[in-house]
Amino acid sequence: MLEKLKEEVLQANLDLVKYGLVVLTWGNVSGIDREKNLIVIKPSGVDYDKLTLNDMVVVDMNGNIVESDKRPSSDTPTHLELYKAFPKISGITHTHSKYATMFAQANSEIPCLGTTHADHFYGSIPITRFLHKKEVEEGYEFNTGKIIVECFRKLDPIATPGVLVAGHAPFAFGKSASESVRNAFILERVAEMALGTFQIDQEAQSLPNYILEKHYQRKHGPNSYYGQDKK
Ligand code: 13P
Repeated sequence: MLEKLKEEVLQANLDLVKYGLVVLTWGNVSGIDREKNLIVIKPSGVDYDKLTLNDMVVVDMNGNIVESDKRPSSDTPTHLELYKAFPKISGITHTHSKYATMFAQANSEIPCLGTTHADHFYGSIPITRFLHKKEVEEGYEFNTGKIIVECFRKLDPIATPGVLVAGHAPFAFGKSASESVRNAFILERVAEMALGTFQIDQEAQSLPNYILEKHYQRKHGPNSYYGQDKK
């Protein structure tokens, strides 16, 4: 079942290794079939070099396993909360990529310091609050999803396709599993550049808003002109 989505989600998980976003068994990618309301996600704790199509786990929106003899990613309840709250996204990537995780551990958002950032994220990459003790005890992964959703009350997850979870690591979103991996890669690069920028100048200022607007809108706005016409 969902063979095409399984292939895409498998490839997206393997791309995490290709892009240097994960080591060991860290991270996970999922994709959703919005018509069937089923998600395909990486199994928990399986080495990337051993992942096969048959390992992909199909779960329903309540987290019940629909197909697979493997346990789904431990972060499945987080993915489910995000799919429920953000109907425009169809792919989610979680990593512990080095630079983005450094910002998460510093409990700091990533301000938009330059046009590389502005081309892909419409403003700062936000940071959630820390989970309360009770939230961790009562449903750690589920409540991780809740605090991300809380953080996006005034944000569009397509225009800001990623977030840092305080003390934890990044989650990135997209209209497909592969697009969410791409956004996780961009988030990591932007984090690395931001760290370097602050090393050069601790007082580095955010990009002026009119340049942020120009760069984001020329790629994603109603009158965008970046790239080629889509046939
Ligand atoms: P899983 O192997 O269960 O997906 O866990 C990886 C991870 O990064 C947990 O945050």
